[in-house]
Parts: sequence; structure tokens; C-alpha cells
Amino acid sequence: MDGQGVDPLPVSRFMPRDVRMRGFAERADVDEVEGFLAEHARVLPAEPVPLLECTGRVLAEEVSAVVDVPGFPRSAMDGYALRGEDSFGASELDALPFRLVGEAMPGRPFVGRVGKGEAVRIMTGAPVPDGADAVVMAEVCSEDGRQVHVADAVAPQKNVGGIGEDIRSGDLVLSAGRRLRPQDAGLLSSIGVASVLCYRRPRVRLVVTGDELLPAGSLPGGSHIVDSNSVVLRGLARRDGAEILPFEILPDRPEIIRDAMATEDADVVLVSGGSSVGKEDHAPLLLTELGSLDFHGIAMRPSSPAGVGRIGDRFVFLLPGNPVSCLCAYEFFAGPTLRALGGRARAWPHRRAMLPLARKITSAIGRVDYVRVAVENGKVVPIATSGASILSSTVRAAGAVIVPRGLEGMAEGADVEVLLYDDAPIAFEGSA
Ligand code: AMP
Ligand code: MG
Repeated sequence: MDGQGVDPLPVSRFMPRDVRMRGFAERADVDEVEGFLAEHARVLPAEPVPLLECTGRVLAEEVSAVVDVPGFPRSAMDGYALRGEDSFGASELDALPFRLVGEAMPGRPFVGRVGKGEAVRIMTGAPVPDGADAVVMAEVCSEDGRQVHVADAVAPQKNVGGIGEDIRSGDLVLSAGRRLRPQDAGLLSSIGVASVLCYRRPRVRLVVTGDELLPAGSLPGGSHIVDSNSVVLRGLARRDGAEILPFEILPDRPEIIRDAMATEDADVVLVSGGSSVGKEDHAPLLLTELGSLDFHGIAMRPSSPAGVGRIGDRFVFLLPGNPVSCLCAYEFFAGPTLRALGGRARAWPHRRAMLPLARKITSAIGRVDYVRVAVENGKVVPIATSGASILSSTVRAAGAVIVPRGLEGMAEGADVEVLLYDDAPIAFEGSA
């Protein structure tokens, strides 16, 4: 892409070399990789989704109502339906008598017409009968046998929800691109919709490699460690709307990793481990064989050995095995891609807080840093800039601060934006 010359193929500058045990000659900038992914990741096709499963999905169509809600004039009170004007003059001292002619219950309307001086006992949600135009609340009425005494006047339309009060037939109720809330699904239900078109959720294949790895749920022992990356990636990818395909841990054997990477049922392949420049790091070369390794080596800390490429329409992310690097590379590159494929905003989904730095953060110009931070007494305390293997740094942290490429660091006292790991408010914000 930068026309370095010798290689005749129209390939990326990261593609042709075997960099194992030699290190990266150059690193791509984070925003270059982000730009590449933004350009290539297109939203997946839509599919019908049953109403009961649509919450959280992204709507791929406009939905307009074909009915009025309510479809009948509806009582907003328990009380008596009557002609409002017949109640004029009624007061506590001078209750007016009405002839009780029947009852209207939700789903069981009064059949007939309410005439002058007549009333129908009515419950909230029941249709207001023909002839009546108001409901007087039960609290100001007293029933005796066939009569009801009304001790307050009600204007016509009082306590009556008109046809279409909630939604009118023809109204646009939801637009494409909407991430459906529980109440959106409820509204769809109320207008008689049984399923809606939503963007398909991206399918993710986890390719977790490492001869040292035991499956999640094992106890670590000897020289073996337990896989934590797949557990973290699963949670992150779910958060971003992905569907995770079944997986198992793979040994560091190129032919086995090749088969797993070549999987055709996924939209995104997340390779954990074996992605760098070590002797057992097979994934980068395999990716050049199977498709393209568009980037390998990125100017960031942690995650600098990360890579990005494609096999056909699939995106392949080479995530370093070190747990913090794995998480960080996911957040920068895989997360936005998954969200874009699923029709969500690419932007990081974290809540944000602007808070002053308790201590300076040092970085280097030309590199993006992902700094885990705690929040103490309303101030941001950096926990770690390095230590890519220290997963507990992300557990102790309240969130992360990203130091952009152009900065050498951030000064003590400066207001910085924290990307919060928790999606619900936490105590330091002073909320109840
Ligand atoms: P690699 O990227 O394969 O060179 O691995 C770098 C480091 O991350 C090594 O210490 C690995 O043991 C560790 N590691 C690799 N994969 C995982 C995983 N799935 N879970 C936790 N640690 C891992
Ligand atoms: Mg490894």
C-alpha cells in the first residue's frame, strides 16, 4: 500500500515477510487501522426477529402503525360513564341521581347506549359506551341499588382516552437503526407486530491457541495456565451484539490453527495468542496464506503485536495472548467492527467521566496508550500503562484512559476522560 517496491503483489506492507524472531520493522498507527476497519466493515443483512427476542437488537426497517391505540374510547378511571353535561351542577351537597343501566369491564363492553340521566359502572381500560362521553371517578359516587349518586361534575371527555390517544394509525413509531429497548418491543406488541427485521448479529469464531492452556473451569497446575482470554472475549463480544460459535482450545500447530481460521461460518475470527513474532506464532503467516494480513504490529501499548486481516468477507483479528493486550486490542479494533457489522455505532460503548488526574501519566509521542485507572476521591489514579500480562490490573481498575498518539503524557491535575468498565453508576459519582 505504501509502494515499497520489490513485492509485485498488490498487498499490504505487512504481508509478505516472515517477521518471526525478528520483530516489527514498522508499526501502523492506531487510527490507520481504525480507518481501514471503518471503511471495510459494512452492516450485515437483515433477518426477521420474533417480537419476544427483539429487545437489544438493531432495527433494520421503519415501523409504522396500521392501527389506532387504543382502538376504542377507553376509561382512564374506575367509576361511572355518563353524559358529562348531565352531571353539571352536581356537588357534595347536591349529589345528582343517575339510573344505573349496566357495567363495562375491560374486554367486556356494555352493549347499548347511555341515555340522558343514565350511568354505566366502568373499570379502567374498559370501552366507554356509546352515548357516554365522560367518566366520573368512583370516589365521588355512591351506589344504592339501581341508582348512583354523583357528587361532582365532570366535563365531557374527562377521564376518557380517545381513539389513537397513544398511537395513531399511520404514525412512524420506530426508525431503522434503533437499538430496541424493552419498551420498544412493548410498543410493537401493542400495535400488533409479531416480528421485525433486524440486522443479523455478527457470528464470532474464537481461535484460542497455546500449548500451555487449560480450558476455563480447570485449576492451573505445573507449567499450565488456564485460558482467560476466551472468557473475556466472549463477554466483550456479547456486549457488542455478537453471537459466539462453539470453540475449543487449540495447540500451537499450524495445520490445526489454519483449519480453525479458515472457518466459513463466522463473520469475525478472533485469534488469541500465537499472533506475534515468536517461533510458535503461526497465525500471521497463516493469515497471509489464507487471505490478507492488512496490519501487523501497531503503535500502541499494550497490544503492539496485534494484527488485522481478512479472509474473504471475514475479518480476522490477531489478538496477543497476554490478557490485557488481548482485551485492549479487542476494544480498539474488534469491538468497533462487530458493532458496525451488527448495525450499532462503532464508538466505544463505555460510559464516560471527565475527572482530574491524581498523578501524571507518561507515554511517548507516536504511540497510543491504554492506561488502566482507578477512581479515588473523585480523582483518576493510573494503575498501569505496561504489564500486559497482569489481568488483575483491569479488575482493580474502574476504567481506562486513552493517551492519544500525539501526546507525551498527561499532566497531574489535567481533566481526562475515563472510559468506565461498569455500565451502571458507581459510588464515586455521588449517586444515591
Ligand atoms: P502468545 O501471544 O501466545 O505469545 O502469549 C503471550 C502470553 O499470553 C503468554 O504468557 C501466554 O501464556 C499468555 N496467554 C496466551 N493465551 C492465553 C489465554 N487464552 N488466556 C490467558 N493467557 C494466555
Ligand atoms: Mg502462545
